[in-house]
Amino acid sequence: MIPATFSQALLRGLRSRCPRCGEGSLFYKWLKPRERCPVCTMDLTPQRADDFPAYISMIVTGHLMAPLIIALSVDYDLGPMAMFAILVPLAIAMMIGMLQPAKGGVIAVQWWFGMHGFVKERLVEAAVPEAPGDEQAK
Ligand SMILES: [Zn+2]
Repeated sequence: MIPATFSQALLRGLRSRCPRCGEGSLFYKWLKPRERCPVCTMDLTPQRADDFPAYISMIVTGHLMAPLIIALSVDYDLGPMAMFAILVPLAIAMMIGMLQPAKGGVIAVQWWFGMHGFVKERLVEAAVPEAPGDEQAK
């Protein structure tokens, strides 16, 4: 089912699901998008995520790590090797862990806005039934 809102489409992408139907998986390998959604058969080849997911991962990791770096250095007075041993593996794990959701999110954004050859699809607004009182007034 086509998502009703942009945030719904984005959430599906972040979960590595097809933004159109929300069921088919976007990737056949870790960061390799499928050519078609296995459920709704939407063509996924127009996606152009390129390096953007990596930039998103780095920016988010940096912003989450900054308070931790400050807290570790101010509150715990750790030496440089202890800081390195804690922060570098954590930063690498966070960046790698964020890549697939970020790529799914970028693909969902591109699909929602009909970029690069994606077909822009929207739910038709359901007609709002009139309240019973309105009919009697006519
Ligand atoms: Zn689909």
